[in-house]
Amino acid sequence: MSIWIIIGIVLVTATFMEFVAWATHKYVMHGFLWSLHSDHHKKDHYGFLERNDTFFLIFAVPSMVLFIVGSA
Ligand SMILES: [Zn+2]
Repeated sequence: MSIWIIIGIVLVTATFMEFVAWATHKYVMHGFLWSLHSDHHKKDHYGFLERNDTFFLIFAVPSMVLFIVGSA
């Protein structure tokens, strides 16, 4: 595989990931999961964690499961 194909794959993948992140933020986090995300934009408490930190679990756990299942 040539270096240009590798660079192209990296650029296309990064661009697609940015689009997915933008769409997820706009339509999911500012949509039906706004109740979890709102304290990220408007702080309403002074605790260490935010409700927005729940997205770590929402996004990371399925990824971890897919990596584990895919590598098994
Ligand atoms: Zn937001």
